Amino acid sequence: KSGFVSIIGRPNVGKSTFLNRVIGQKIAIMSDKPQTTRNKIQGVMTTNDSQMIFIDTPGIHKPKHKLGDFMIKMATNTFREVDLILFMVNVDEGLGRGDEYIMDLLKDVKTPVFLVLNKIDTVHPDELLPIIDNYRSRQEFKEIVPISALEGNNVDTLLEQIKENL
Ligand code: GDP
Ligand code: MG
Repeated sequence: KSGFVSIIGRPNVGKSTFLNRVIGQKIAIMSDKPQTTRNKIQGVMTTNDSQMIFIDTPGIHKPKHKLGDFMIKMATNTFREVDLILFMVNVDEGLGRGDEYIMDLLKDVKTPVFLVLNKIDTVHPDELLPIIDNYRSRQEFKEIVPISALEGNNVDTLLEQIKENL
């Protein structure tokens, strides 16, 4: 199995930390899948039966001025070109305007989206469920996966679930 996985989210939610952890394990040859020029390939992870190509998107934050239709189209076209989107959020902060802005951009995108709740090492387990409900009540997700990119909790599970959805 092989596919393109895009990691999106507000700045500072832990996208780079996650990628470094994953790619740090194994850097491999580039895929021969056709690449798009718009997306920067950040790293490739291969296991004996899969290949995940992680691509970088510019950190998404709500602009001061309303994004033009063209810019919105560019962003959402990128979402459509990948096989899976990891929408990473910070559980410590929960659902805020910045996340809502990104969820609005995802609204009409057919690509499966995982909600990745990062930094679970910073909250009590009891706090997790209400935070998850908050996100889930606003949008449906293919999977919801709590992780700590920093400490590595549940990252293997996330990689398994990515693999299953490619
Ligand atoms: P990015 O802007 O989304 O790429 O975020 P970074 O990967 O640069 O991380 C931003 C900050 O959050 C850094 O100080 C990281 O060390 C910290 N961070 C990332 N993941 C975790 C995590 O799982 N737990 C905690 N406590 N901090 C994290
Ligand atoms: Mg980063």
